[in-house]
Amino acid sequence: MSILKIIKEPDPILRKKSQPVDRVDENIQRLMNDMLETMYQAPGIGLAAPQVGILKRVIVIDIAKDDEPKKPVYIVNPKIIWKSEEVITREEGCLSIPGYFAEITRPSKCKIQYLDYNGNEKEDEVDNLLSTCIQHEVDHCDGVLFIDYLSKLKKDMIIKKLIKTNKDKQTL
Ligand code: ZN
Repeated sequence: MSILKIIKEPDPILRKKSQPVDRVDENIQRLMNDMLETMYQAPGIGLAAPQVGILKRVIVIDIAKDDEPKKPVYIVNPKIIWKSEEVITREEGCLSIPGYFAEITRPSKCKIQYLDYNGNEKEDEVDNLLSTCIQHEVDHCDGVLFIDYLSKLKKDMIIKKLIKTNKDKQTL
């Protein structure tokens, strides 16, 4: 397994729509393994392939707490087929937007169809943190970031600061 480079906002790749995977083959499994390793190392609880520069609809998630055994979830070609009317507000962050967190309101539950690590078709109803996390990662596959839900003023301020941080890093 290898650690992949995580792409940061405002890289235009993060705004592209990812393509569905034809088949969950060894290459896709290797990508999922590398993404999981990259996510654990970051550390984060979710990562979508466009965040490592690969425009495929592939997601890895692990919401297990530090003292719990690892519980990776692999999601290929996710399709959210139902969202609850009930919403929940949760503080979100993103490995592509380091250092920024914001309260985002989303449907509290959703139902998702996807292919698992072995390419089997699955359908799950999820709630709480897993539901928020899946919606955040599916957004990545559609070129949407959590800061898009904020006011334009707040979003522009975050992007401006990120550009400055990225520049500072390059001069080191
Ligand atoms: Zn993210």
